[in-house]
Amino acid sequence: MTKTSAQPVKTRIVIAGTGYVGMYTAWRLQKKLRRALKKGEVEIVLVGPDSYMTYQPLLPETAAGSLEPRHVVVNLRQLLDRCTLINGRVTYISSKDHRISFTSAAGEDHTLRYDHLVIALGAITRTLPIPGLVEHGIGIKTVGEAVWVRNHVLEQLDIAAATEDKEIRSRALNFTVVGGGFAGIETIAEMENLTRYTIRSYPNLDRSMVRWVLVEASGRILPEVGPELGKRTVNMLRDKGVELHLETFLNSAEDGHVVLSDGTEYDTGTLIWTAGVKPNPVLANSDLPLHERGHVKAGLTLRVPDTDNVWAAGDCAAVPDLTQPEKICVPNAQHAIRQSATLVHNLVAVMNGKNPKPYKHSYLGSIAGLGLYNGVAQIMGIKLRGFPAWVAHRGYHGMYMPTFGRKFRVFTDWTLALFARRDVVSLGEIHEPRADFTRAAKS
Ligand SMILES: Cc1cc2nc3c(=O)[nH]c(=O)nc-3n(C[C@H](O)[C@H](O)[C@H](O)COP(=O)(O)OP(=O)(O)OC[C@H]3O[C@@H](n4cnc5c(N)ncnc54)[C@H](O)[C@@H]3O)c2cc1C
Repeated sequence: MTKTSAQPVKTRIVIAGTGYVGMYTAWRLQKKLRRALKKGEVEIVLVGPDSYMTYQPLLPETAAGSLEPRHVVVNLRQLLDRCTLINGRVTYISSKDHRISFTSAAGEDHTLRYDHLVIALGAITRTLPIPGLVEHGIGIKTVGEAVWVRNHVLEQLDIAAATEDKEIRSRALNFTVVGGGFAGIETIAEMENLTRYTIRSYPNLDRSMVRWVLVEASGRILPEVGPELGKRTVNMLRDKGVELHLETFLNSAEDGHVVLSDGTEYDTGTLIWTAGVKPNPVLANSDLPLHERGHVKAGLTLRVPDTDNVWAAGDCAAVPDLTQPEKICVPNAQHAIRQSATLVHNLVAVMNGKNPKPYKHSYLGSIAGLGLYNGVAQIMGIKLRGFPAWVAHRGYHGMYMPTFGRKFRVFTDWTLALFARRDVVSLGEIHEPRADFTRAAKS
């Protein structure tokens, strides 16, 4: 690769980010511009750190072991075979020069010229300056995090079973999740379900020793499904023995000792932080107009104001919500997928000298999985809970999983789980793969 871009290509579309918006945009452009791509009139280049797109809504089920980690990601090189994928991280965007800068997976710095740029850089976990949080906490936004959480939680049961020391055992069996949105509630429900099932294999442990604690700053959980279903979810979690602390903050987690604002204190071996996201901070390294919360501003047509050829969508973009005046679209996959469709339509229209159209999407509803055979949903005003909501959750995400191959694998995982016993061993060793080798070398 050269340090600066090659010149002969007529129109180069660069997509920064390879998540929902990045993948769907490239996939749709690849279909729409098939002829132009074949003739070499257009080039589509994606820049992102991974060679896969992560289907984030299925990460809690991945952590719980209902799905294989490799089955919730989409191989971009296979899917986007007429695009160019560069593994790297965008470091700067200059709309004035029509260039982005990035550091490649090889550690080299490059710049890349574009004729059109799609900003699809998503959001990152929003943390707060709470003592001990960075040292002990983990998010649930990547496949790596989901796999780690699974192995770590199962390992805590092994630790608890291997000791008679009350303090060590209690610390291992106290699990904490902060954040009562989708990610937090689905994670605590799935993981509680996993530990309840797994603990039956430990003769010296029982369910009453396990404590799952949810901490939420506001007075409600799952605001997306409405107050009534939110309350029912609270009751359902309490029935399962989950301890809910609403209107409560995590004050400290130093040395794994949790202190909550309602006075509760305990030691925990597991701290999962899902209390919100913020737009990708790399957007600050650009000459683009930013919204007060750090999103890149997008107009009604998803074009960035004061530019002809920069487009933005998804969690990183402040897109006006035409269904709710003065508001911007909330960060979710529903908007990301639909914004990508409008963005592709508009980008191609502008390339052909036509007018772009505004983005408008009425909220269809929300679905959350709450462990095996349980869920909660609000779809176009219809409220579901328990088993029907769980079926709707699996049906919706199974169908939305991109590509037939992924759908097949996801549905196969789910079907297998109906007939086979759950796989519940910790493979924590994979997080320190060289440990045995170095021990052997020292002995
Ligand atoms: C656990 C969990 C559960 C969820 N459940 C739901 C749900 O049930 N329903 C729903 O609608 N939404 C849900 N969401 C939210 C949904 O997944 C996001 O809204 C969606 O992924 C946003 O798409 P995006 O393309 O904007 O961002 P992402 O999909 O996050 O993609 C951003 C991409 O940018 C890449 N990137 C980051 N930094 C750089 C850089 N410097 N250079 C280049 N690339 C970079 C990332 O690697 C990533 O590929 C959930 C999210 C999580 C974490």
